[in-house]
Amino acid sequence: MRRFETRAVHAGERRGGGGREPATSNPISTPIYASTTFWHPDVQTTDRVLGGEEAGYSYTRYGNPTVTAFEEAVAALESPRGGARSFAFASGMAALHAALLAAELSPGGRVLAAEQLYGSTATLLVQIFGSSGVEVRFADFYDLKSLQRRVEELTPRALVVESISNPLLRVADVPRLAELSRSAGAALIVDNTFGTPYLQRPLELGADIVVHSATKYLSGHGDLTAGVVTAGPPYDAALDQVRKLTGGILGPFEAWLALRGLKTLPLRVERQCENSTRLAGFLAEHPKVRRVNHLSMEDHPDREVARRTLSGPSGLLSFELDTEGREGVFRFLNALEVCVRTPSLGDVYTLATHPATSSHRDLPPSRRERLGVGENLVRVSVGIEHPEDIKEDIARALERV
Ligand SMILES: *Cc1c(COP(=O)(O)O)cnc(C)c1O
Repeated sequence: MRRFETRAVHAGERRGGGGREPATSNPISTPIYASTTFWHPDVQTTDRVLGGEEAGYSYTRYGNPTVTAFEEAVAALESPRGGARSFAFASGMAALHAALLAAELSPGGRVLAAEQLYGSTATLLVQIFGSSGVEVRFADFYDLKSLQRRVEELTPRALVVESISNPLLRVADVPRLAELSRSAGAALIVDNTFGTPYLQRPLELGADIVVHSATKYLSGHGDLTAGVVTAGPPYDAALDQVRKLTGGILGPFEAWLALRGLKTLPLRVERQCENSTRLAGFLAEHPKVRRVNHLSMEDHPDREVARRTLSGPSGLLSFELDTEGREGVFRFLNALEVCVRTPSLGDVYTLATHPATSSHRDLPPSRRERLGVGENLVRVSVGIEHPEDIKEDIARALERV
């Protein structure tokens, strides 16, 4: 099997243009197949393609070569030994919706989700699945003893967790969660957006379904919205069907951009891990900083789990400023010049955000406080710039706190 970096560059590419062009004009980069429909030499072939007896494309909502190229590349990274297929969607939320449907969340069924989930995922569960008769419960996924009791008591159909949580960067113990869900007959769904397949491959650790907001690290340049789900049987057939029928497909242009972004995933994440570790070390020593959350920190509560399940600290960190209220934090954020003030993550640019007024703004302050998201917390998604420029920018802005 070829190595991760090699697969990231080559997997999925359709070289050869389907054998119709002369052998001397084969593109090395898969073209953007901007075509809704595909024709065949005769109607018998169309019949076989539609019937699934012969490989081929018919209608873009069912499949498109540019989108397939991106899906095959993701599958080669998340499931290098094969056995799982990837399905691309128009956004991370559409991908999560499909993953939850594929786990057969139907009226009367229960789902147990981590309290620290991405806000829209929690709201999707409560508002869309909850209102159609699914019982939605939340639990602390980092206390495995009490979680085990909740699983035995609730017998959920699915467990939902993120490989690394936002913004405190708690690390899910995916191997233990997989054992727990397997013994309860539940599907384990892991949102690996923060982890990326470069740092963790949840399917290899026993998870059943892996989801990404490809808007973030997989594409990595802040220029497209996409989602992708990877799973083996029986979930792959369900995902194929859900996508055909709900229609939240990824467009060929976005798939092409995402495939291009994916090629540099290992380079970007490697650099982001290095840059974030340097920045975390600098912040930990700074008098205006009370606490730093980063997986390189000795006092991170999940150091041991991270050592077993992740191959790097990720490019994300958060820190508490030594101030009360939001005024000092706002002065800090407004003073940034290299780092971009915006709530997304995973880009080549360093992005800084204030979780209390962005990702966690809809939560009551008491719940925010319980999750450790205070007014003085800043989250940084470290980019690939020169580390000294990031550090100098943040050092200068810290003087304004
Ligand atoms: C951004 C994000 C999502 C949602 O993805 P979109 O592409 O914005 O729909 C889901 N989960 C996590 C962890 C995210 O960061």
